[in-house]
Amino acid sequence: MTRPHFSFLSLLRQAFLGEKALAPHWPARPPKPAYDVIIIGGGGHGLATAYYLAALHGVRNVAVLERGWIGGGNTGRNTTIIRSNYLMEESEALYEHAVRLWEDLSQTLNYNVMYSPRGVLMLAHTDHDEHVFKRHVHANRLAGIDNEWLSLAEAKAYCPPLNTGPDLRYPVRGAALQRRGGVARHDAVAWGYARAAAALGVDIIQNCEVTAIRRGADGAVSGVETSRGPIAAKKIGVVAAGHTSVVMAMAGVRMPLESYPLQALVSEPVKPIFPCVVMSNTIHAYISQSDKGELVIGAGTDSYVSYSQRGGIHIITEALAAICELFPIFRRMRMLRSWGGIVDVTPDRSPIIGLTPVPGLFVNCGWGTGGFKATPGSGHVFAHTIATGTPHPIAAPFALSRFREGRFIDEAAAAAVAH
Ligand SMILES: Cc1cc2nc3c(=O)[nH]c(=O)nc-3n(C[C@H](O)[C@H](O)[C@H](O)COP(=O)(O)OP(=O)(O)OC[C@H]3O[C@@H](n4cnc5c(N)ncnc54)[C@H](O)[C@@H]3O)c2cc1C
Repeated sequence: MTRPHFSFLSLLRQAFLGEKALAPHWPARPPKPAYDVIIIGGGGHGLATAYYLAALHGVRNVAVLERGWIGGGNTGRNTTIIRSNYLMEESEALYEHAVRLWEDLSQTLNYNVMYSPRGVLMLAHTDHDEHVFKRHVHANRLAGIDNEWLSLAEAKAYCPPLNTGPDLRYPVRGAALQRRGGVARHDAVAWGYARAAAALGVDIIQNCEVTAIRRGADGAVSGVETSRGPIAAKKIGVVAAGHTSVVMAMAGVRMPLESYPLQALVSEPVKPIFPCVVMSNTIHAYISQSDKGELVIGAGTDSYVSYSQRGGIHIITEALAAICELFPIFRRMRMLRSWGGIVDVTPDRSPIIGLTPVPGLFVNCGWGTGGFKATPGSGHVFAHTIATGTPHPIAAPFALSRFREGRFIDEAAAAAVAH
C-alpha cells in the first residue's frame, strides 16, 4: 500500500473503501548502523528539523530517535496557542517566521494540521498590564506584526462570554489582540511532519531511547548508544525539550536550564461557544475551545523543579478558579482530564538554538512554556544550522554563548508567562 496523497478524491475513495484503503503514514524501520544526522527527540521540533533537512537541504540520511512515541512529549501535551506578539526584536523575528510557515503548513505537508487563526486575546487587569501590552502593540506594529489594543467594550464584543463586570477579583481593563494568532491540532503537527519527512527518506524510530553520546578522540561526536544498539553519526541535533539537560550531560555539556512541570486540562465537550483564545498572564490562566468541543485550559508552572509529568493540584485549582471568575457560564462544566509536561526554562525565557562547544553537536531547547507556536520556524532555522554548520540569521541571536556573553533576550521581563 502506498502512502496516500490527501485530496478530495482520495478522501472520497477512502470513504468507499474504508480502512482497507489506509496505509501507514510512515514505515516502522529498524535503525541503520549509521546516519549523516541523528535527531534526538521525536517531538514537533525534532520532526520539523528532520523534514526541513530533507526537503530544503537534501540531507535525507537522517534518523529521528524517540524514546517513546512521536508527539508523546510536550508536543502532544500543550494547549496549542500560536502567536508572534513578543516584545524583543529577535523574538518577533523568530515567532513571526513560524506564524508565516503555519499559514500554509497544511498545504506544505499535505496534512491538515487544523491551523485556526481565531485571534489571541491577552487580558490586562492592572496598570502594569495595560502599559506592558500597549508597549507590545507599538513594538509589534513597528516590526510589521499585527497586534492591537482593545477597550473593555471591544474586548467583550470580541469574546462575548468574558465577564467584564467590576466585581471580579482582577477586573478586566482591556486587552491586546493578535488576530492572526490562534491554535492548531498538536498531534497532527507531529504526524504531518513525520509523514512528510519519512516520504523523503527520513527514518522515524520510536521506542529508541538515547542513553549515551559517543565522542571521538578529537572531541567531536561520533554517534549515540541507544536502547536499540549503537548508531553512528557525525552530526547530532538534541531536541529533547524537558530532558535537554539530561541528554546534553551525556556529551559533558552543562545547560543553563531548569525543568518544571506545567499542567493543562480539558472539559467535557460542548457545542461551539468560545470564539477565540484568551490568556491572562496576571492570573495564570488561558483557555480556548478545541474543534472537538472541549474547553482547553492551561495553568502556570509549578514553583519547584521536577521531572514528574504531573503537577501540584493547587496550581490547576487556582487556574480553574480564575477561569470561573472570568467566564461564569463555565462554572457548571465538568473537567475530563488533566496532565502535565516538563518544560525546560532558560534564565531569559528565550530558547537556545545552535552550535555547542562539542563539534558536531547542535541543540534546540529552552522553549519553556511556549514552544509549540514556534514548531515550524524552529525546525526550519535549526535544519539550516545543522546542514550548513552556521546559525541561520534568525537563530543566531539565540546561541548558547549568549549566557556567557551577557546578551540576553529578556522575554522574562516582557511576558511573565509565555504560552
Ligand atoms: C501543559 C503545557 C501547555 C503548553 N502550552 C503551550 C501553548 O499553548 N503554546 C505554545 O507555544 N507552547 C506551549 N507549551 C510548550 C510546548 O509544548 C513546547 O515548548 C513544545 O511542544 C516543545 O516541543 P519539542 O518538540 O521541543 O518537545 P517534545 O514534544 O517534548 O519532544 C521532545 C521529545 O524528546 C524525547 N526524548 C527525551 N529524552 C530522550 C532520549 N534520551 N532519547 C530519545 N528521545 C528522548 C521525548 O520523549 C519527547 O518526545 C506547553 C507545554 C505544556 C507542557
